[in-house]
Amino acid sequence: MNDLLNMSLTECVKALKEKKVSSVELTKACLKRIEENKKLNDFITVCADSALAAAKESDRRLADGRGGMLEGVPIAVKDNISTEGIRTTCASKFLDNYIPPFDASVVEALRREGAVIIGKTNMDEFAMGSGNENSAYGAVKNFRDNSRVPGGSSGGSANCVAAGEAFAALGSDTGGSIRQPAAYCGVVGLKPTYSLVSRYGLVAFASSLDQIGPLTRTVKDAAYMLDVLAFKDGKDSTSSERTEKCYSDYPTDVKGKKIGIAREYFGDALDKGVKDEIMKAVKLLESKGAEIVDVEIKSFPAALATYYVLSSAEAASNLARFDGVKYGIRAENDDLYSLYYNSRTQGFGAEVKRRIMTGNYVLSSGYYDAYYLKASKIRTLIKKDFEKAFEKCDAIVGPTAPTVAFKAGDKTKDYTKVYLEDIYTVPVNIAGLPAISVPCGVADGGMPVGVQFIGKAFDEKTLFTLAEGICNSK
Ligand code: GLN
Repeated sequence: MNDLLNMSLTECVKALKEKKVSSVELTKACLKRIEENKKLNDFITVCADSALAAAKESDRRLADGRGGMLEGVPIAVKDNISTEGIRTTCASKFLDNYIPPFDASVVEALRREGAVIIGKTNMDEFAMGSGNENSAYGAVKNFRDNSRVPGGSSGGSANCVAAGEAFAALGSDTGGSIRQPAAYCGVVGLKPTYSLVSRYGLVAFASSLDQIGPLTRTVKDAAYMLDVLAFKDGKDSTSSERTEKCYSDYPTDVKGKKIGIAREYFGDALDKGVKDEIMKAVKLLESKGAEIVDVEIKSFPAALATYYVLSSAEAASNLARFDGVKYGIRAENDDLYSLYYNSRTQGFGAEVKRRIMTGNYVLSSGYYDAYYLKASKIRTLIKKDFEKAFEKCDAIVGPTAPTVAFKAGDKTKDYTKVYLEDIYTVPVNIAGLPAISVPCGVADGGMPVGVQFIGKAFDEKTLFTLAEGICNSK
């Protein structure tokens, strides 16, 4: 049984096609592993019955020699991505009873290709957090060391892939929520270029930054998932045409690739053990023929504050829809005002309230110019700095996070410490670029370290090539 769960996604697809294993067998094995690992708290909803029914259907199609790209493969979906008929809570009490009447476009795509939706993963409430400690359904424990966090906000998605409970998972990344948990759990996490993957059906956090992407065990799997997930979607007005016919056929030779190193990514915030592993990864690529060049992202020191101003402002307006009228809980009330007030007071957790208050503050008259407008201008500077850097290189390398997975409860007393975990991931979302985190070593008592590659817009292929250079999955 265990061997089955150690397969990569692409190995699993092959084994199913060759009938070496059935989808029902795989699905049962994943469900069993989820049950054994219950204390990790990776899932908010496990879809045992519907998954087994879907697996039977897949086995029928496979027996006829039919089936899509993911036929019969158990895949997990973050709980802020809408699934028809399956509760979608965003890890918030507010949506405890919410069952979407439709599938997100990415979920539709998974189902079209025959994937078996195994369950909905735990996360930070409304995707706000970096340790998966802000969930109304309890924290997630890191699979490798239960006293540590799995990262966030897609903590359940990263942890369940690391723990062999699913062959891939969907996450969302607004400021690092795919890449940082991927780094903490030792899996691969891809944040695609803004607009490459449809967000129709993703519960919006900060619409100018949000992207859906895959968490997988190998780079090859990430490319394969992108082949399923990238398509033009008329239901998402920001969705663009996909630019590559086949992401999976990315070249594996890094020779001649120019990789930029920005000094700003190696400052005081970076843990020594993490830095050493990143530098080893850089050396490895250099030894394989990549060329290392110095680049500069001057505006980097302003990126974190810019992110928290912009994302909180957008969150405040996106979360205004949760008023107790249309979705989720409706609190006791005497009039319309107390309906709004009580529903929001009872429904949202502390961090979500903090973001809404910050967001409304930076947007309010008198403060708008000093905060929101200023942050919007810095956003332009950050974009320009990346454009300039990419005149000299094909991709930029750096750490995904400043530390390895931290101890649960360590940072929550002073929440700005949690915000600092995002220092290396947020610039990518601000600039709308693609980036990948790939495991490159261990530090601090054996916890995984992730190296991050940042690419030019729509150049995911180069990211796959460089990430492959680190771990050789093809
Ligand atoms: N940790 C960041 C935040 O709390 C990023 C979250 C995300 O990417 N969804 O805002």
